[in-house]
Amino acid sequence: MRFDSDESMKTTMILQIAIPKPLSNYFDYLPPPNTVPEQLQAGIRISVPFGPHKYIGILLAIVNTTTVPKNKLRAAYKLIDTIPVLSEDNLKLLQWASHYYHHPIGEVISTALPKLLNQGKPAHVETPHNTHWITTPAGQLIQTDTLPKKNQRLAFILSLLQKTPDGLTENEIQLKNPRPTLQALQKRDWITHQISPVNSTIEPHLKLNAAQQNTVDKVCQKLGEFYPCLLDGVTGSGKTEVYLQIIQKVLDQDKQAIVLVPEINLTPQTLERFQKRFSVPIAVWHSKLNDNERLHNWLLARDGIAPIIIGTRSAVWTPLARPGIFIVDEEHDQSYKQQDHFRYSARDIAVVRAHRANVPILLGTATPSLDTLYNAHNSRYQHFILPERAGSAIHPSFHIIDMRQQIRKSSLSKQLKKAIEQRLAAHQQSLIFLNRRGYAPVLTCYNCGWVAGCQHCDAHLTYHEISKYLRCHHCGEDRPVDIQCPDCRNPKLNFLGQGTERLEENLQTQFPSARILRIDSDTTRNKHAMRIALERIHKGEADILVGTQMLAKGHHFPKVTLVGIINIDSGLYGIDFRSTERMAQLLVQVSGRAGRAKEPGEVLIQTYHPDHPLLTRLIRLGYMSFAEAALKERKESGFPPYSHLGLLRAEATTIEPAMEFLDKAKNQAIAFKSNVQLWGPVKAPMEKRAGWYRAQLLLQASKRDILHRLLFQWLPMLQSLAGNKVRWSLDVDPQDLL
Ligand code: ADP
Ligand code: ZN
Ligand code: ZN
Repeated sequence: MRFDSDESMKTTMILQIAIPKPLSNYFDYLPPPNTVPEQLQAGIRISVPFGPHKYIGILLAIVNTTTVPKNKLRAAYKLIDTIPVLSEDNLKLLQWASHYYHHPIGEVISTALPKLLNQGKPAHVETPHNTHWITTPAGQLIQTDTLPKKNQRLAFILSLLQKTPDGLTENEIQLKNPRPTLQALQKRDWITHQISPVNSTIEPHLKLNAAQQNTVDKVCQKLGEFYPCLLDGVTGSGKTEVYLQIIQKVLDQDKQAIVLVPEINLTPQTLERFQKRFSVPIAVWHSKLNDNERLHNWLLARDGIAPIIIGTRSAVWTPLARPGIFIVDEEHDQSYKQQDHFRYSARDIAVVRAHRANVPILLGTATPSLDTLYNAHNSRYQHFILPERAGSAIHPSFHIIDMRQQIRKSSLSKQLKKAIEQRLAAHQQSLIFLNRRGYAPVLTCYNCGWVAGCQHCDAHLTYHEISKYLRCHHCGEDRPVDIQCPDCRNPKLNFLGQGTERLEENLQTQFPSARILRIDSDTTRNKHAMRIALERIHKGEADILVGTQMLAKGHHFPKVTLVGIINIDSGLYGIDFRSTERMAQLLVQVSGRAGRAKEPGEVLIQTYHPDHPLLTRLIRLGYMSFAEAALKERKESGFPPYSHLGLLRAEATTIEPAMEFLDKAKNQAIAFKSNVQLWGPVKAPMEKRAGWYRAQLLLQASKRDILHRLLFQWLPMLQSLAGNKVRWSLDVDPQDLL
């Protein structure tokens, strides 16, 4: 009887499996031969045939019907896991994200999993060699000389560990291959291990000021609830200190915390600060880890071994055994939005995760995004304000320098030059900010007007002095610099404009004895370059720092008392509706580097538009006043957060098919008679990029669900419309319309 029913069950079992392929959400398979039903749990990995290839997919569900004809239905090859790699709850989150961003679940899952798991590697935590082994209380009591003779190694290691309360790593134990012995000791519960070193020099928490204390108290009262908060405090006001003390409470409840930071370069700095406070394993997650480290850290988080996870954007997908709080530092930062393939916002995902887990989320920033500020105004988010700088530092003073008044056409105004001179004399540091790397953004011929352009993009090539190459910052194409004009053979070509390399050169000419340090993505490519540069700055081994936005974020430079901003004008009149918001955030962030310690800071802003209303408001009245005015503008123009956007992008090897596709797509959308407004199609601001001609159609709706209802009906029709000439993608909540 039993046998029969099992047999019939097998024949009707259809596995819905997510595979990282575009277009479809899942694919139907029969179970591998000889599968016992109990082995089939949602969240396990399964290898399957797909066309002529083998893929690794995730089992989503087991059903008993399929639309695939019987003769087309293939059996999966093999179950990879006995225990699901993703819990039901994780799977639900990923399915939600797939739904919301209208992106295939298989690709969503492969974004969320470490590469080695996507490749089918085992999903269990290996104890690394730098693990600290320590004796347990039971182990301390064992008298090693009473152990039998054949247990010499056991006795030796145990006695060694008994003498070192902080523990030892495997490498520190002077024995050949101590691992099996350590495991034998661990089995007897005489020793245990800790993933990160035992920290015996834990720093105490600081005494909080009233605003900090209020935030910590309120959030800690709500640790078991969804409690979204904007933590709005200028740079240096003590937000990180607030995170640390809230996390302490979360750890006290034996729960986990995820802290998202925008830049990889900030991870070591943040990590160090956390390690000084907490003697628990901290899992880090960023793009400079190797695949093994990533898998290991992911598993530490998933299995609840690491109570704290610190990482950049994709850390938001790390599963947690016991979620306690989500923290997004610098929530306004653009890097939280993935700009290709699966275009998700890590900040928004963090909010959704906090909601699903019923825990608080802190969105910290000195310059809230208008979206978050809007939520705070609507009381959807709590709004905590840290009004003053913690400690003794005071706010910098701002000066706008009208570049139209400069007699000499140099990139450095005489005011800025003088201010730098003063800092040099006083042995203080200056930070000169220019958001453009390379030597010069344009190489041109004055004789005939030729300009060095990229073959693949509508863009100029930037000259890089260090390599003597011209490079496209959009597609990466590079080539040696021309020695004469290719059009008229003029041997004298001119560089126009300046990037950080040229600015550095100019500064060195102006201040021959100054020690200048340039920091941009060209000088920090090497894994340790940023750390070394930061050390030099802190030791006072540099007088003038030149850098891009890389320098603007999060770093503490106590000796910097002057910030010079070379050119913000592109932000004032940018083509994107978020341009001014970005400009203001960057300006405030850069300015925040000045005068963080005892010396007051000064910020000089060079511009050809000194009367720009949003700029003057920002300088005179501060970011909040700017943001209110900018929100009002958004309301009038109906842009987010007062509406919801989707951007349908299309590209092809010529522009016509892309435009044609969008035209037809638009007509289809119109036929659904939804209340979504359709703008375009238009050519993208950068029409040609990396060899593709690009166009876009903007969708705008007053309510989120109006937009999504249309998308669900409409998107499935688009692929047949696109054919194989046009590549298309949808960006839900696009961050820019470029
Ligand atoms: P933010 O994250 O807002 O930039 P931090 O938490 O990094 O601010 O604090 C800036 C500086 O002020 C740090 O050096 C920190 O140690 C110090 N600080 C923060 N809170 C306090 C406090 N309550 N008392 C004294 N110093 C503090
Ligand atoms: Zn020429
Ligand atoms: Zn290019």
